[in-house]
Amino acid sequence: MALLSAKIAIVTGAASPRGLGKATAKLFAEHGATVVITDLDAGASEAAASDLPGEGHIGLAGNVVDKADCLRVATHIADQFGRIDILVNNAGITQPLKLMEIGPENYDAVTDVSLRGTLYMSQAVIPTMRAQKSGSIVNLSSVSAQRGGGIFGGPHYSAAKAGVLGLTKAMARELAPDNVRSNAICPGFIATDITAGRLTDEMRAQVLAGIPMGRAGTAEDVAGCALFLASDLSAYCTGSEVDVNGGSLIH
Ligand code: NAD
Repeated sequence: MALLSAKIAIVTGAASPRGLGKATAKLFAEHGATVVITDLDAGASEAAASDLPGEGHIGLAGNVVDKADCLRVATHIADQFGRIDILVNNAGITQPLKLMEIGPENYDAVTDVSLRGTLYMSQAVIPTMRAQKSGSIVNLSSVSAQRGGGIFGGPHYSAAKAGVLGLTKAMARELAPDNVRSNAICPGFIATDITAGRLTDEMRAQVLAGIPMGRAGTAEDVAGCALFLASDLSAYCTGSEVDVNGGSLIH
C-alpha cells in the first residue's frame, strides 16, 4: 500500500549515501511521495534525488543553519509543487568529545546543525503547512538525548538532541490546532557514516554489549519509523518521541 501518494516531502541532510536521510527519502519515494533532498552540496543532493525510485524528485543545496537559505528552499518547493506535506529534519553532525574538550566552535557546529537547523527549516515550511491545514514534521533526536550520551557524540551532541526533543514537543502544542504534527525519532546506534571513521572497535563492542537486540540498527530501521510518523497512520500522534534503538533504553 502506498502511504504517501501525492505527498511532497523534504528530507534535510539526505545526500549522505548510507545515511538515515537517504534511506528515508527512498522509502518515502517507494510509498508514492515526491521527495526533495536537501544537503550542503547541490550536486550531491541532485545525485541522491536522481537515485530515488520514481519520477519528479529533486535535490537542492540548503544549509539548515542559514535562515535565508531555509526560506529560499521552502519558497522554491512551495512554488514548484504548490504544497509541502512532510519535513524530516535529519541534518546533523556529531563529535566524540569529552565535556572539558568542547570549545566554542564545537558547541556552535553541533548545536547549530541539529537545533538551530530544525528550528529554521520548520519555520520555513510552517506557513505553507498551516495554510493547508495539514503537515507532518519529523525531527531526528537521539538516544543520546535521553540517556546523556554513551554512544558516540559528546555532551554538546546530547544537549543539541535534547533541545530537539523540547522543540519537537513545543512545536506540537503550537501547531496542533492547524492539524500540523511534530514528532521526534530517537535512534540508538545505527550503522551510517556519521562517525566519519572515528568509531574504534573497542567503542563499537562496548556499545553493542548494551543493546538487547545485539546488533546495530540499519538506516532502514529508522526510515520505517519516519514513514509511520510522516503518514496518516500516525494521524493522532503529535509531540511523541519514538525509540528506534534495539532496546538500548528500556525503562
Ligand atoms: P550522515 O553523516 O550520514 O548524514 C548527515 C547529513 O547531514 C550529511 O549528508 C551532511 O552533509 C548533512 N549536513 C551536515 N550539516 C548540514 C547543514 N548545515 N545543512 C544541511 N545538511 C547538513 O548522518 P546520519 O547517521 O544519517 O544521521 C542523520 C541524523 O540522525 C542526524 O541528525 C544524526 O544526529 C541523527 N542520529 C544518527 C544516529 C546514528 O547512529 N547514525 C543516531 C541517532 C541520531
